[in-house]
Amino acid sequence: MLAGVFEGEGKLSIKEVPDPKITKPDEVLVKVELAGICGTDVHILEVPPGHPATAGTILGHEYVGTVIDKGVDVKTVNIGDRVVVDPNLTCGICRYCRRGLPNMCENFTTLGIYLNGGFAPYNVAPAKALYKISKDVPLERSALAEPLSCVANAIRKINLQVGDNVVLIGAGPMGLLFLLMIKAQGVGKTIVIEPTPFRAKIAKDLGADIVLNPKEVKIKEAIMDLTELGADIVIDAVGSQFATALDLVKRNGTVLLFGMNENALPQIKQFSITRYELKILGSYISWFSFPQTVAILESGNVPVEKLVTHKLPLEKLQEGIEIMKRGEGIKILINP
Ligand SMILES: [Zn+2]
Ligand SMILES: [Zn+2]
Repeated sequence: MLAGVFEGEGKLSIKEVPDPKITKPDEVLVKVELAGICGTDVHILEVPPGHPATAGTILGHEYVGTVIDKGVDVKTVNIGDRVVVDPNLTCGICRYCRRGLPNMCENFTTLGIYLNGGFAPYNVAPAKALYKISKDVPLERSALAEPLSCVANAIRKINLQVGDNVVLIGAGPMGLLFLLMIKAQGVGKTIVIEPTPFRAKIAKDLGADIVLNPKEVKIKEAIMDLTELGADIVIDAVGSQFATALDLVKRNGTVLLFGMNENALPQIKQFSITRYELKILGSYISWFSFPQTVAILESGNVPVEKLVTHKLPLEKLQEGIEIMKRGEGIKILINP
């Protein structure tokens, strides 16, 4: 079969590889129907890499498919089922897994990063990675299950209240998923901060009440005008905006740090966290949030498929990566 393989040193090849086969009793053979390109894929292909990955691996960790074969021990899915994939595989027996924190697992691995993933027509995954989803859900929506599960996990932590004013920094794919999830919950104003006109327009189209360009307006003044006291909740979906978030949140408000940038070293005023009793939260991938994510996708209440800007054949995977790099796409799906 043809597959998108990470060759190391920023190189991706689209090449023929052997069809995968089930070798263990808990494994499932999935026919991949759509696989999303993630910002992480772009980081893996940077030189030097912005994210580690194993050379020789088929990339693609956001995918949806159909079960076409399964090992003898697999009870949770059947042949013919449509499934979404939680690509983060945890060991279950390390010190963190045993404390109920699988997203902190010490032996963590990921399909599509360290093990073969979804940029190929077929993939073998352990049954524990797969969640059955209704075939009535459009494939383009199901394909966003993995990123949505991370956002669903984070939303649970911020304890949104009716009427809360929310500031969302960054309208990339994850920021826009936050926007859709927040808009579905009956909050106050949702204010997006985004400098790129292309992304700003999409945020507006997806229901942001106000979109501010930090290059054009004084953000702090604008947020105070719009909210009187500052935002109840500020979400940094960029990964380097902690200082700005502290500036925009109201006293006793919540800052959620979601985006990731290992090199960001923002200068923050620690005093304001103490003096104004701010709540600072981090959120990393999903934590038992896939069942809820499937429920959200099946309900149709959060139309995440609106984030899909491109659908490309596997042969054009490299082109899709380039579109992402140029910031001209939001969610690009590959049909293998
Ligand atoms: Zn991802
Ligand atoms: Zn573990």
